[in-house]
Amino acid sequence: MLELKGVTVTFDGTRAVDAVDLSVKDGDVLAVLGPSGCGKSTLLRAVAGLEPLVDGSIAWEGQDLAGTPTHRRGFALMFQDGQLFDHLTVARNVGYAQRLRGLSRAAVRAEVDDLLTLVGLEGYADRLPRTLSGGERQRVALARSLAARPRLLLLDEPLSALDAGLRGRLATDLRRILTESGTTALMVTHDQAEAFAVADRLAVMRAGKIVQEGATTQVWGAPVDGDTALFLGYSRVLEGAAAAALLDLAGAPVPPGAAVAVRSSAVQVGPGDGRGGVVRDFQLTPDGSRVVVAVDGVGDLAGVGAPGWAPVPGDVAAVRVDRRGLAVIPDAQAHR
Ligand code: ADP
Ligand code: MG
Repeated sequence: MLELKGVTVTFDGTRAVDAVDLSVKDGDVLAVLGPSGCGKSTLLRAVAGLEPLVDGSIAWEGQDLAGTPTHRRGFALMFQDGQLFDHLTVARNVGYAQRLRGLSRAAVRAEVDDLLTLVGLEGYADRLPRTLSGGERQRVALARSLAARPRLLLLDEPLSALDAGLRGRLATDLRRILTESGTTALMVTHDQAEAFAVADRLAVMRAGKIVQEGATTQVWGAPVDGDTALFLGYSRVLEGAAAAALLDLAGAPVPPGAAVAVRSSAVQVGPGDGRGGVVRDFQLTPDGSRVVVAVDGVGDLAGVGAPGWAPVPGDVAAVRVDRRGLAVIPDAQAHR
């Protein structure tokens, strides 16, 4: 188990990583999710032993790693641009660590074949990296990282360089691969979908600090404050009378003083009047449509349009809000 306590890294007196406490249990995958520049890579480099700590400690199985150099930590680090050896075949890239361990040719080949199967690249052994797509290159990089049999795999935005559709598919594969190989992993990313798809647990990082940590579904459904909600993909955070009006629309009880975060997927907009709004904007999206409606007492809300419905601005619409897509933030003061 990896355990970080009060980990702090500074650059010219500025705290890039600020008193971070985190732990990753054996076999777990933890994603640290935060915007660009919040200190994710620095945190990962500190765990790898590539950045000195000014305060705090990093331990593995209870043993402090302060005196352990990078190459003796038994961790592997994988970046967004896999960093393959371009002149070596896929098999030789993947088998690099085993050859260093002095395994026989046949043993290396057998392990490489297993790893290529694991990452879905059977038959690719003799290809050169430049003949591969971006997604295939990242699979090779992952197989190579796993070949070193790391006690801990550190992943720095492993899928960010890929286009959206491929990123989604590979995220699902990455989760399966980490689970099947029983790998303990710490991933950092700015991409919410990637974090949700890959990790069991999520830590939200902002300006060097961890602001929330928990099971992925728990963090997704109960962000700790307004900024975190917006970062996690909620479309708006409402307070006061607007929050009460929205909760009323959703048929949910109204705790006093609460702020409410709403996801656009919870707002269903269709033709008709009833409990309604006025369409402000309509847009087709790859998986349906997005409608912005002005709702009395609430203001503008983004929602999902009924299938086949194509309103124009000014049309009256019926609005339904699914309370399961709302998050009540108990202390409104926590918003900013
Ligand atoms: P992220 O990976 O979340 O985008 P980084 O960890 O790369 O963020 O950077 C966090 C902050 O530390 C940024 O403000 C960045 O400019 C700064 N920083 C990172 N590395 C260095 C360095 N080697 N020297 C000075 N400042 C750095
Ligand atoms: Mg980074």
